[in-house]
Amino acid sequence: MLYDFTENRKYRIFVRTSMLILIMETEKVKCLIVGSGPAGYTAAIYTARASLNPVLYEGIEPGGQLTTTTEIENFPGYPSGIAGAAMMEDLKAQAQRFGTDVRFGTVTAVDFSKRPFIVTVDGSKTIEAETVIVATGASAKYLGLASEQQFRGMGVSACATCDGFFYRKKDVAVIGGGDTACEEASYLASLCNKVYLVVRKDYLRASKHMQNRVMNTNNIEILFGHVTQQVLGDENGVTGLLLKGPDAQEKVIDVAGMFVAIGHHPNTEIFKGQLDLDAEGYIKTIPGSSKTSVAGVFAAGDVQDNTYRQAITAAGSGCMAAIDCERFLLENPL
Ligand code: NDP
Repeated sequence: MLYDFTENRKYRIFVRTSMLILIMETEKVKCLIVGSGPAGYTAAIYTARASLNPVLYEGIEPGGQLTTTTEIENFPGYPSGIAGAAMMEDLKAQAQRFGTDVRFGTVTAVDFSKRPFIVTVDGSKTIEAETVIVATGASAKYLGLASEQQFRGMGVSACATCDGFFYRKKDVAVIGGGDTACEEASYLASLCNKVYLVVRKDYLRASKHMQNRVMNTNNIEILFGHVTQQVLGDENGVTGLLLKGPDAQEKVIDVAGMFVAIGHHPNTEIFKGQLDLDAEGYIKTIPGSSKTSVAGVFAAGDVQDNTYRQAITAAGSGCMAAIDCERFLLENPL
C-alpha cells in the first residue's frame, strides 16, 4: 500500500496550526500599564482602586531609575529620606494590595491604529488592551565615544549606586554638571579615594544645595570647562581619561572608573509612528492632561516630561493618567 504523504502533511499542518492558535491566543485587558517607575505604580494604585483591573508590565529595569538612586530626600512624607529601591518596593506593594497584576516582561511592540490596542510582550505574547498608560521613563545617555563603548562594564558606568562599590578607595571621575552628576559624585566620594567631577561648562547646572554639597566635599575636585576626549585603559579596564581643558590643552587624569551622568533620553522607540513625539523623542501630551495623540492611550512620568523629571511629578502625572483613563473608559466602553 502506498503511503499517503498528502494526508500526513495536512495532519501536521493541522496540529501546527492549533498549536499556533494556542500560543497566539490573545488576552484582553481593560487597562494596561507599561513601566514600573513612580508614574506606572501610581497609575496602577489609582486604576486598581477604580476597579479597572490593571495589568502592569515592569519592563527591562523593574522599579525604574529610582532603583539606581541612593537616598531620595525630596519626596514628601519621608523626613529622614528613603532609599530609591525601598521606595519602589513600597509603591509596588501598594499597587498589588489593590489588585494590580504586576508582571515581569517588556512590551516590545504596539499597534495603536484602532481599539482594542494590540500590545506585544517579549516579542511573542499578544494582549488586546482597551486603554494603555505609557510610563516607560527615560534612560541614561552616554557620551558616544568609541572608547567609552569599549570599556562599558569595565570601568565605564552610568550608575554609581550600582557599581560604586567596585571602586572603593580608588580614584574615579564623574562626567556632567547636573543634579545627577553631583549626587553621583557625593555618593562616590564616600567610597572612593578621590572623585573628579568633569564639567564641560564653567558652571554647574545642579541645584544650589547639590552644588554646595560637592563644593564642600574635600575629596571632590571639580574640573570646569573640561571635555572628555577618550577613555584610556587596558585589558583590565579603565586606567584614565584624556580631557581637553578650557585652554585647549590636553590632560590625562588617572582614574579606575568613569561614571557618566549627562542626562537621559526617553524610552519611546516602540512608540515611534504610533504616538506624536517631540523633537527629542518625548511623548507629546495635551497640556493639562495625560492624553496623547491617540484617544485611549495616556502617558505619564519622564517619558512625557522633559522639564521637571522628578519622582514626585512622575507620581502626580501617573495619578492624572489613571483618572483620565477611568473617565475615558466610562465615555468610550468597548
Ligand atoms: P541635566 O540635564 O540636568 O544635566 C546634565 C548635565 O550633563 C549638564 O551639566 C550637561 O552640561 C552635561 N552634559 C550633557 N551632555 C554632555 C556631554 N555630551 N558631555 C559632557 N557633559 C554633558 O541632567 P540630570 O540627569 O543631572 O538631571 C535631570 C533632572 O533630574 C533635573 O531636572 C534634575 O534637577 C533632576 N534630578 C534631581 C535630583 C534630586 O533632586 N535629588 C537628583 C537627580 C536629578 P550642560 O550644562 O553644559 O548642558
